[in-house]
Amino acid sequence: MNNSGIAVRLEEIKALIPEGVSLVAVSKFHPVEDIREAYDAGQRLFGESRVQELLEKIPQLPSDIKWHFIGHLQTNKVKAVIGKTSLIESVDSLRLLEIIDLESRKKGVNTDILLQVHIAQEETKFGFSPEELIHFFSHRTYDDFANVTIHGLMAMATNTDNKEIVRHDFEKVSLLREKLIKEISKTGMEINRSGKVNMNILSMGMSGDWPLAVEEGSNIIRIGSAIFGERAYKVT
Ligand SMILES: *Cc1c(COP(=O)(O)O)cnc(C)c1O
Repeated sequence: MNNSGIAVRLEEIKALIPEGVSLVAVSKFHPVEDIREAYDAGQRLFGESRVQELLEKIPQLPSDIKWHFIGHLQTNKVKAVIGKTSLIESVDSLRLLEIIDLESRKKGVNTDILLQVHIAQEETKFGFSPEELIHFFSHRTYDDFANVTIHGLMAMATNTDNKEIVRHDFEKVSLLREKLIKEISKTGMEINRSGKVNMNILSMGMSGDWPLAVEEGSNIIRIGSAIFGERAYKVT
């Protein structure tokens, strides 16, 4: 037994999350012992943002853990993560999507992904602009990628204490998802039949803002510090 509080905080958050919303426990910068503690409390879905760290942790932990990759993925690291994740949430460029598709084809697998949208009022965040995504779906660009399935969108809100700005960011992504679904159906594509695109997922909300994200329609929340405590070092 120990009393780091991880299991307790996990239970508290799980009790507040509505049905139909999945919780990704973001374990980046936290040791495998902490992940094990969350695992023993029943958590099976974890998020990591660096390839090296993910690859070091996987063999030390039970194989029924599902890993979401949530950080900026460099193209030269793609090969190493293909087949290891249940979802790559942070696909932030066409170039990255191309490489994921290529490496998946080489390995004979299909890779499940989300497209990351840049919506926050910050220069530093990665992602597609809403306009790029509208173009992507209205031109059926996804047809070029036979070995990926696009499940929806991931986004981060502006890093501010102003709840109205945060809510507005989440609302914009939620409306964008609806618009993209319309664009897809305009092209004659039957969205849930294609096997390549379904847009069922909206991944938004972190420790400080997840209740707002859920109110705006998020169905995956990614929570780190509210479960594991503060990270040893800050990441961008
Ligand atoms: C680190 C991180 C999180 C978790 O952040 P917390 O504020 O610790 O909950 C969620 N999403 C992404 C993309 C992250 O990089």
